[in-house]
Amino acid sequence: MTHRQFEGWNSYGRRLAAATKAGNRDWVRLPYCRGVMLAEGGKLFFTGKACKRGHLSPRNEHGDCTQCHLMRLAERRDAV
Ligand SMILES: [Zn+2]
Repeated sequence: MTHRQFEGWNSYGRRLAAATKAGNRDWVRLPYCRGVMLAEGGKLFFTGKACKRGHLSPRNEHGDCTQCHLMRLAERRDAV
């Protein structure tokens, strides 16, 4: 894994608390913003902030919440 500049304890602590609340502490190891994710060549990042629907989950390269993304896919599948 590439060595990333530390985001700072405030940011890390907030993300760790959010990941713990969401039940997946591994998410704290994801990049904290899209720029870092792109620099590392990853596909997901985790801000620790809830999306507009209140999901605490990682975001993809478009900045979309992955849970909302899955919901949209399911809606599309049901609509067919
Ligand atoms: Zn969402």
